[in-house]
Amino acid sequence: MKIQLLSPAGDIHRNSTGIFKRSLRYAPLTLTTLAALVPDELQAEITLQDEGVEPLDLDFSADLVGITAITGTSLRAYEIADELRSRGHTVVLGGVHPTLMPEEAADHADALVTGYAETSWPQLLRDFADGRLAPHYALPFDRQLRGLPIARRDMLKQRRYATVNSIEATRGCPHKCEFCVVPTAWHGTYARRPVEEVIAELQTFAGRHAVFIDLSPVEDVAYAKSLYRAMIPLKIRWVGLATTRLAEDEELLKLAAQSGCRGVLIGFESVDQQTLNGTRKHFHQADRYAEYVKRLHDHGIGIQGCFVFGFDDEDESVFERTVEFVDRAKIDLPRYAVVTPFPATPLYRRLQAEGRLLHRKWSLYDVEHVVFEPKRMTPERLQAGLQWSWEQSYSWSSIGHRLTGAPWSILPLWLSTNLGYRFFARHLPDKTQCVYRDPAMPAVAAPELVQL
Ligand code: SF4
Repeated sequence: MKIQLLSPAGDIHRNSTGIFKRSLRYAPLTLTTLAALVPDELQAEITLQDEGVEPLDLDFSADLVGITAITGTSLRAYEIADELRSRGHTVVLGGVHPTLMPEEAADHADALVTGYAETSWPQLLRDFADGRLAPHYALPFDRQLRGLPIARRDMLKQRRYATVNSIEATRGCPHKCEFCVVPTAWHGTYARRPVEEVIAELQTFAGRHAVFIDLSPVEDVAYAKSLYRAMIPLKIRWVGLATTRLAEDEELLKLAAQSGCRGVLIGFESVDQQTLNGTRKHFHQADRYAEYVKRLHDHGIGIQGCFVFGFDDEDESVFERTVEFVDRAKIDLPRYAVVTPFPATPLYRRLQAEGRLLHRKWSLYDVEHVVFEPKRMTPERLQAGLQWSWEQSYSWSSIGHRLTGAPWSILPLWLSTNLGYRFFARHLPDKTQCVYRDPAMPAVAAPELVQL
């Protein structure tokens, strides 16, 4: 059996390496994990293509094509799926967007995989081999992540990525931030892999570095501590994501640093506590953000800080206040986005009920395009404020000032990523100039709200 696995990219990120020869991206785990899940007895020939790092070649021979999609890439995925089906291929769609919008995705596929694919994807392949492919495969949401196969990193074009050493220790998130797709798509589950399995996978890596893609790995503090303790003898350097909980617990922070942590992405979201409370991220304390940044720096850990604009409590002063905070706190790598109501999330349903969605052109749901009517400014002012913030924080003077706070041992990493983001900031207006509005706004049924 020949299997082709494709990951389409949205317009804003397609084949973009900026000023560098290779992408600053780490290799995503989806395709390599799907490849690892293919049952041996099928003796399949598998090919992977990731449009995030190179153009797709659709002139292939395959018995089955698997395409993964998030909301921002879903229209591209449908376009590719329709084209391949018209050529006679059997196409399977999966990923977050088909999980959120299965009825919509079903129009473009011979079969869907929704939710986690660990058992449903192998089952689908066996059924296909037996000539009895079903239209929908769904795995019950399981909190166990025991016995995951080791992702097939060997199948990637490694030189295209900053690293292929991406790994997960936990999946999902126990929090319920209103705007976040994670609790909705994964039904509020939070699963942890056995520590010994994570360590065993890390030991297979070429090079002593890793990227943890877990969205919220420190929410189970005892688990995180035992993982970090077990990682210390490996002597690797790693980056990953965290909530501010990492900086609140001195022992956890110390263990993270000792285990090789050199950088974390933190979704600070807003410098206003009222906004954090309103969006259910009340467990973050805005007035302690600067203190947390300093603590992380003191342990040799740099910070990619993410901020989101357009929450209901925010007026236009938010841009200046955020940029000023980012400079003052010396956040190594700021990243700005606009509030994006991904389908089926509580935020989507609320904005839909309030008649504030501008359109459902999913390709623009990429967190850099305004797709809704903010409460205290126009969509155009929000889009312009986003752009202004990117430009301010990636001016030479801001980069120079912010990086005086970065730990010396990791300065080259943060300098190169700042240069990459400066390129992104300067070219963003090429893609986000106008705010799109759909005058018709067809009345489609709202997705079911998942009760958490
Ligand atoms: S924004 Fe972060 S903390 Fe909040 S639900 Fe999503 S993953 Fe969890």
